[in-house]
Formats: sequence, C-alpha cells, structure tokens
Amino acid sequence: MIPIKIIQDIIDINQFSRDGKKLKAKKGFVMHYTATKGAPAQNISQYFRNLKLQDPNDKVADRYAGAQYNVDRFKIVQSIPNDERAYHCGSSQPYLPDAIKAFGTYPNDTTIGIEMCIELDGSIHEDTFQNAADLVVHLIQTENIPNTIFTHKGVVGWKDCPLPWIKKTSEFERFKKLVKEKLEGGKPKMDPKDANKVIEFLKAAYGVTTDKEAQAEIKRLANELRKASGQPIQ
Ligand SMILES: [Zn+2]
Repeated sequence: MIPIKIIQDIIDINQFSRDGKKLKAKKGFVMHYTATKGAPAQNISQYFRNLKLQDPNDKVADRYAGAQYNVDRFKIVQSIPNDERAYHCGSSQPYLPDAIKAFGTYPNDTTIGIEMCIELDGSIHEDTFQNAADLVVHLIQTENIPNTIFTHKGVVGWKDCPLPWIKKTSEFERFKKLVKEKLEGGKPKMDPKDANKVIEFLKAAYGVTTDKEAQAEIKRLANELRKASGQPIQ
C-alpha cells in the first residue's frame, strides 16, 4: 500500500459544486489540469467552495464545477467525498464511445475527478505527476476502483485537458505505466528527488570532461537513474 497524506477540505453541499448525490458506481478516474498557472491545490478547492456564492437569479452565467481531488507538488487536497459525484466532466455534446463503454452515459456519476495543478510555466511538475499517480494507486487499493484512467479530453473529446498531456501524449502513457508499476511493485525503486540530486552530480562531472566516451557513459547513467525513479529519459 502506498502511504499518502490527504488533506481533507470537504466543501459545503450546494447546487454548483457539490450536489451531495452519491456516485452510482466507481468505474475509474478522469485526469484534469487546473489551467490556473501557479495556483496550489488548496486554492482550487477554495474556488470550488466559493462557487456556492453565485446567484442563480442574476444575469451572470452560472458555473457548475468540482472535483473530488486537487493535487500539487506538495499536497493532495480532497474537496468532495469519494462516494459523491462531482461536476468535472459534464458535456453538452455526446461523450466519446470509449468513455461511454468504460463509464456509462454520464461519467460524472461513475468516476473520480482529479485536478492536477500547473506551474507558472504551464507545466505539470514531476512531483505533482508522482503525487497524482500515488493518489490513483491509493484509491484503487482502498476504494476497490478499477485501474481505468481517462483524460478529460478522452471522455468529452472537445476539451484540451490536461493540456500538457494533450500536447505530449506520451506523458499520459507514462502516467498509466507508472500507476501500473506502483500497483505491481509498490513504490518505484528510487525517489525522483534523490535521483535528480545524483543527476546534478553527474552533470557536474560531465562538465569537467571532454572525453566523448565518458560523456556518453554519464548520459547513460543519468537515464538509468531517471528510469529507476519513474521519470522520462532525456
Ligand atoms: Zn478537465
């Protein structure tokens, strides 16, 4: 079992972000990104909480949104209980056939939504990526949810979410592979933070040699460390 710490920040029941209805089944996960550069997980949860302040009778269009979990580099923040639905992948257009096959005709009723925070440069930090994978593994192990993971785009077709994974689809593949590895073998052999520290030493060594063979060997070793810690090779 992967030990993870989840910060409970359950929002009040309200029509816009937590209607209190139970999930009809737990069939898998839908991965999102927050689109707000630099905003931490706690802020996203607060945003969902504040949606209750909307006035349904004013002329401003109402926004319905929410997700069970928000993940950043440091924290996993839960906004909505595991057995309740969230408005994370609603669509006015028909859902994609693969999504209907996996999740039924209204995926909000059968999936856990996970928001991944992005950095100021728009990227998903490796620590966020790892935390999200740990969360999915934890929920598979503790909530008896099948290992079925979709992107938001893979459910609705029209929304480029999570954008960094739409731009580079191999990242979504790496995520699913990492979840599978964590389920099969527990934690990766090496903590990515430790691996990156050692890689920094290797980079320093690379800088002081002009020997091509030595440089190639250093590159190879760095990639071995990346592989051992579940990171993409370079
Ligand atoms: Zn999304």
